[in-house]
Amino acid sequence: MTPSEASRLVAEEAKTWRREIHQHPELLFDLPRTAALVAEKLKAFGCDEVVTGIAQSGVVAVIAGKRGPGRTIAFRCDMDALPMSEQTNLPYASKVPNMMHACGHDGHTAIMLGAAKRFAAERDFAGKIVLVFQPAEEGGGGGRVMLEERLLDRFGIEEVYGMHNQPGLDVGSFAIRSGPMMAAGDRFVIAITGLGGHAATPHLARDPLLAASHLVVALQSIASRFIDPLDSVVVSVTFISGGDRRALNVIPSTVEIGGSVRTMQPSTRRAVEQRFREIVKTTAALYGAEAEIDWRPGYPVTVNNPEKTSAAIAAAQSIVGQERVDGNWPMTMGSEDFSYMLEKRPGAMIWLGNGDSADLHNPAYDFNDNAIAYGIDYWAALVAQRLS
Ligand SMILES: [Zn+2]
Ligand SMILES: [Zn+2]
Repeated sequence: MTPSEASRLVAEEAKTWRREIHQHPELLFDLPRTAALVAEKLKAFGCDEVVTGIAQSGVVAVIAGKRGPGRTIAFRCDMDALPMSEQTNLPYASKVPNMMHACGHDGHTAIMLGAAKRFAAERDFAGKIVLVFQPAEEGGGGGRVMLEERLLDRFGIEEVYGMHNQPGLDVGSFAIRSGPMMAAGDRFVIAITGLGGHAATPHLARDPLLAASHLVVALQSIASRFIDPLDSVVVSVTFISGGDRRALNVIPSTVEIGGSVRTMQPSTRRAVEQRFREIVKTTAALYGAEAEIDWRPGYPVTVNNPEKTSAAIAAAQSIVGQERVDGNWPMTMGSEDFSYMLEKRPGAMIWLGNGDSADLHNPAYDFNDNAIAYGIDYWAALVAQRLS
């Protein structure tokens, strides 16, 4: 099915905004140009309220319906790019060295602006729509900072919805799942301290390299022997550093290892961290060493509320039909900072088909402009579902 006439018209304009944003990518919380473009458009559309400067460069717009009071629901998109070089050779490729919209947040922003234009003109709903344009999704936790600045209470938000493009999923198709959808991503660095010495007299030393080697292996027992095999866990040691290649007859006194832990259930996340700490302490102790853990919590598990997922599926089906909406899309081990909002309010995040494009975070990636009208139609259909 093709997108609606109304969305196709706005999408033509939104495509030019998307390409404008694409040429001028900005990183993390520092999005002066993007935020100014967004705020200027939202004001021009006649939104009731446009607030800037939330979490530094976040922008929020409020649009009230003409059918009287009702719920207040929030739609959220992300605006930030990535610190990498674009290799697309597109006429509208990034003009900023080493910055690129390689995750399609330019597209998400353009879709939300297109939807804002329609909502502000039509206002054919009861209640309020709050449009949230957030900074720093790529590693900065911009969503979390917006919550710390009281986003939800300030605007009276009762439900939250998100959307992200998905390469490999056809344009005009949607995918979603109820419950956990994306992983929690935590990181760690462990400093193992033993006692350095001569390689010829290991009994006088306490070798931290041996402790670290056993630890790398022992940590693999978390996923393989501690967690239900049907519950996904990844423990990846991705960094190890110790000793000196110029001193091969010296046992070093310290070794550092680091890596990433991914879990799919909030309860599993807590259990894995606890088990991780026990393994590190006891394995180090086994070899007479001591370990200090620097545990760096990342984004939580992204959990879709079942009832709101049903509303999202109904909305998507109303525009593209049943067969183009996959309601049981597999979980992924990536993580997403919309998870913070979903922890505080019921809602759902959906995948929007980006067609046969390069993968997210790939230098050849580009958001598919043909998906814009479907994205706008989805937001409009969700309004019909939740604010009629
Ligand atoms: Zn990304
Ligand atoms: Zn992204």
